[in-house]
Amino acid sequence: MSDEMTGVKPEENTGAEANAKTNNESGSEEVRSRHFIEQIIDQDLAEGKYEKIITRFPPEPNGYLHIGHAKSILLNYGMAEEYGGQFNLRFDDTNPTKEKEEFVNSIVADVEWLGADFRGEVLYASNYFEQMYEAAVKLIKKRKAYVCDLTPEEIREYRGTLTEPGKNSPYRDRSVEENLALFEAMKNGEFPDGAKVLRAKIDMASPNINMRDPIIYRIARMTHHNTGDKWCIYPMYDFAHPIEDAIEGVTHSLCTLEFEDHRPLYNWVVEELEYPHPPKQIEFAKLYLTDVVTGKRYIKKLVEDGVVDGWDDPRLVTLAALRRRGFTPESLKMFMKLVGISKSQSSVEYPMLEYCIREDLKPKAPRLMGVLDPVKLVIDNYPEGQTEEFEIENNPDAASIGQDAGKRKVSFSRELYVERDDFMEEPPKKYFRLFPGNEVRLKGAYFVRCTGCEKDADGKVTVIHGTYDPETRSGSGYEEKEGARKVKGTIHWVNAADAVNAEVRLYENLIDEEKGKLNEDGTLNFNPNSLTVLTDAKLEACMAGAKPETKVQLIRNGYFSVDPKDSTEEHLVLNRIVGLKSSYKPGV
Ligand code: ATP
Ligand code: MG
Repeated sequence: MSDEMTGVKPEENTGAEANAKTNNESGSEEVRSRHFIEQIIDQDLAEGKYEKIITRFPPEPNGYLHIGHAKSILLNYGMAEEYGGQFNLRFDDTNPTKEKEEFVNSIVADVEWLGADFRGEVLYASNYFEQMYEAAVKLIKKRKAYVCDLTPEEIREYRGTLTEPGKNSPYRDRSVEENLALFEAMKNGEFPDGAKVLRAKIDMASPNINMRDPIIYRIARMTHHNTGDKWCIYPMYDFAHPIEDAIEGVTHSLCTLEFEDHRPLYNWVVEELEYPHPPKQIEFAKLYLTDVVTGKRYIKKLVEDGVVDGWDDPRLVTLAALRRRGFTPESLKMFMKLVGISKSQSSVEYPMLEYCIREDLKPKAPRLMGVLDPVKLVIDNYPEGQTEEFEIENNPDAASIGQDAGKRKVSFSRELYVERDDFMEEPPKKYFRLFPGNEVRLKGAYFVRCTGCEKDADGKVTVIHGTYDPETRSGSGYEEKEGARKVKGTIHWVNAADAVNAEVRLYENLIDEEKGKLNEDGTLNFNPNSLTVLTDAKLEACMAGAKPETKVQLIRNGYFSVDPKDSTEEHLVLNRIVGLKSSYKPGV
């Protein structure tokens, strides 16, 4: 089917998402200059054009929102907030084929999660179908619209090309009466799907093809998720959208660059319909991110092909996935500030997003110990059956946001868990962790000297042995004493007696960009290691029964969030949001 028959809105060229250039647009100045949209609004207000700024986010309920949509939401909401105006959430549900209630619900939840306040009022373009019909009748009466019987193929032929003008439809000069009667008959279901369309009468020779008598209504018998079978004619996007904006009193209709060529039509619609305070369309550049898949169509395909496990698979950048993985609304807001608003297309480095979540969680997430790949450490000279507790600071960085995260008690006994890779029987040079004869500090506890290990038949280490020095107790001031031994390594540990078992999911980018984003055959080059599941992690006792979306730093291992879908009281599941090391530096 041709575009004009499906009622879809403009799309950029296929592959744009996959091929976007790399160009880090970070702007980390403390005081940012006003971006071009603010400048336009400032001027409109100065000229007294509008009393109150009204913006909207108009998603099509045909998929889940992704990080690009967050840019649009935060921009639209941000402008309403900044100017003391109003932000509307309006579903652009004029194309029933792909729309689903599941998507409506997920979108509402995502917008709420981001904190874009729409006063709990969910608006639907489909609630304006009656007004849109009336608007079409008005155009017919003004001799600005006509019913056309050309087939889709003929319409395409008549439309001309970029270099050649189109030619007029033979139906262009139908009388007002005939057009009114035919349009009504279209509405009443008297013609089969696709038999006729209503077209705006503009200019078949316009250099802008969108202005060559675009279709504004089509016949399509489709059940609509909101209006059911009430309508068998549906308005086209370019006609419907400006009307939706005008009805709601939207002042600045912010959209992405692919709509730029449609702006003359947008303006034509609001002018011909004589709205007293016509809204203004302003375009800005879409957000693209390296190493990930943005674009609803692409994400949908990954979900449908089973490459990922649903729309909220934490390897995706849908908002549902980012939230599930552990990203916070604050981190996304910080990210959008860094990215900025501009008119030039570019794509942002994924590590910049990681930087933002680290910055957000650094002072907020408690720092605990968790062993991802555990092996037992037995301290042979520690009395059997004895337990003691150490007080460990929860987060020394909390002070940076004016908080005191306090301290917690961590238990210690003869048997602990440590990371498998914190021990090596035959270490290379500069390895300062556990190996026979070497002494390390157990974080917050004692110095322990490794004395050896036990192995199974396959040579796999099953137990590490060591001895501790009671003199070196953390907090005793041992390290300041004269003649105190120095150790180069500090490792984390968990008391085996009260460790909490957990499943931990580690993620890498879904797309392997180092080898090129696309394979030779044009398919996406997936990273086979995008998900690693560790089933035997051991966490500090305080993690028992942790609530969904609880965020912690596991020292040396990264930031983690409790999976809201799969984690239960009995079976804790943690997603790694991000590691601790950063490859991104602001302002570079
Ligand atoms: P996609 O391009 O991913 O298919 P869409 O444009 O079809 O998304 P809509 O639900 O219609 O999705 O979009 C709602 C709003 O979000 C539109 O105003 C659109 O311009 C904006 N938007 C979509 N993708 C991005 C992006 N990557 N960056 C910024 N804004 C975006
Ligand atoms: Mg699109």
